[in-house]
Amino acid sequence: MRQIGEHAVVVGAGVAGLLAARVLSEAYGRVTLLERDPLPAAPRPRRGVAQGRHAHLLVTSGTLVLDRLFPGLWEDLSAAGVPVIRDFAELRFAPGGEHPLRLDGPTGQPFICQAGRPRLEQHIRGRVQALPNVDLRDGCSVADLTADASRRRVTGVRVVDATHGVAQTVHSDLVVDATGRGSRAPNWLASLDYEPPPSQRLTIDLMYATQRLRARPGALAAKVVAVGARADRPYGFVLLAQEDDHWLLTMFGYAGHHPVRDRGGLLDMLQVVAPPDVFAAVREAEPVGEVATHRFPVNQWRRYDRLRRFPTGLLVFGDAICSTNPAYALGMSAAALQAESLRDVLADGSRDLARRFFRAAARPVDGAWQAAVGGDLALPQVEGRRSLPVRVIGRYSARVLRAAERDPVTALRLLRVASLQDPGSRLLRPATAARVLRHTVGRAPAPSPERRVATGPSTS
Ligand SMILES: Cc1cc2nc3c(=O)[nH]c(=O)nc-3n(C[C@H](O)[C@H](O)[C@H](O)COP(=O)(O)OP(=O)(O)OC[C@H]3O[C@@H](n4cnc5c(N)ncnc54)[C@H](O)[C@@H]3O)c2cc1C
Repeated sequence: MRQIGEHAVVVGAGVAGLLAARVLSEAYGRVTLLERDPLPAAPRPRRGVAQGRHAHLLVTSGTLVLDRLFPGLWEDLSAAGVPVIRDFAELRFAPGGEHPLRLDGPTGQPFICQAGRPRLEQHIRGRVQALPNVDLRDGCSVADLTADASRRRVTGVRVVDATHGVAQTVHSDLVVDATGRGSRAPNWLASLDYEPPPSQRLTIDLMYATQRLRARPGALAAKVVAVGARADRPYGFVLLAQEDDHWLLTMFGYAGHHPVRDRGGLLDMLQVVAPPDVFAAVREAEPVGEVATHRFPVNQWRRYDRLRRFPTGLLVFGDAICSTNPAYALGMSAAALQAESLRDVLADGSRDLARRFFRAAARPVDGAWQAAVGGDLALPQVEGRRSLPVRVIGRYSARVLRAAERDPVTALRLLRVASLQDPGSRLLRPATAARVLRHTVGRAPAPSPERRVATGPSTS
């Protein structure tokens, strides 16, 4: 790619910041990545990424982008013992809260990576640090932007060294804010006399509780088991195989139906939702460490794409634009797709960069937003306006889910939308709608797993 600037600064070395730095390294002479946390040499959770203690899945759109940005990454992770899922037989995914999707056969490509979040971040970081023109400085907190006299051009950042408290200015042609959902970019804009972005929000009052487990090898054939929340039971769980026969069990609950912070309470909740063999495997597993919790109050999308005025030399990226309910596991993939959007707009030069980037990034962000908010609004416990189109789509989506429990073609199409490979509108195509109707109209819902346990072997 043609070089369009001398120096870019990325603030925040989470997954989004790392991916932004990777792409910017092709278009700028050098890239400086500034991270507030001291970064650990070994993969372990850190303060700035509280989600590091909880279940993290990279879904297919993200795995494909990372494969393009870092060829061989999946082979490296597989060699390190990380489960990289290539076969649907290893996935038991029941987004409707009861029956798994009917997904058949090998996929021929890695479609889910479930490295623990600290390990995935460490591998990506290693690749980014190996780039000759990227400099990663940890222990550096960015306090503010600097701007030229007209206050229309951002010229760099003011950084405070976390250890010594020394402040310095780092000059750059471009600053990318990838500081996550707590981003201060709206305040930074206000201090330069720009409007903050309008914000879309949906309150969900979600709580995560996660227990690490050591399981008997082969205790479960599946490597991922995920059961979504349901209208009559607004909680669910994800169970992920990790490196070294460890598992992560994350329970999540909405609007007051929160998982408690002790193992007994988690097991009680799990027993209601998990297939019996999964519950038995978890009950027999040995807990490792304490239960960790994380509160996620609200889906939030800051609409930078709707601003008329925006300073030159600044972009906002990743969760700092949009952060959605983590139970849908879309944040890292949305960031990966934003990185590809950024690469595309950089290829056309620096003119009007912010407007072009925010517009391009809004497409993948919208996919994640619709998937998360659409799913959340299906739960009566979540308060929010349900317009007529939302209600109609909600009813149709419930049918798609039912059809996908029986029909592998519908299941695959649904999975592609749920993993941001296709837009949601694909499910409205006549061929899919016809299949959905064929598999749902006049057919009784499948019996509940509890009944199947009593009458025959579980197929979940
Ligand atoms: C509980 C939970 C579970 C999740 N599960 C999944 C999942 O399964 N799949 C998925 O795809 N996504 C998941 N996500 C979302 C995912 O983690 C994020 O979308 C993704 O990591 C992108 O985040 P980010 O890099 O934009 O921000 P963050 O991960 O928040 O990183 C921001 C970085 O900026 C640094 N920083 C902040 N302020 C400053 C400053 N002033 N100066 C310098 N550095 C600063 C922070 O220390 C941090 O390193 C989950 C999120 C949560 C909360």
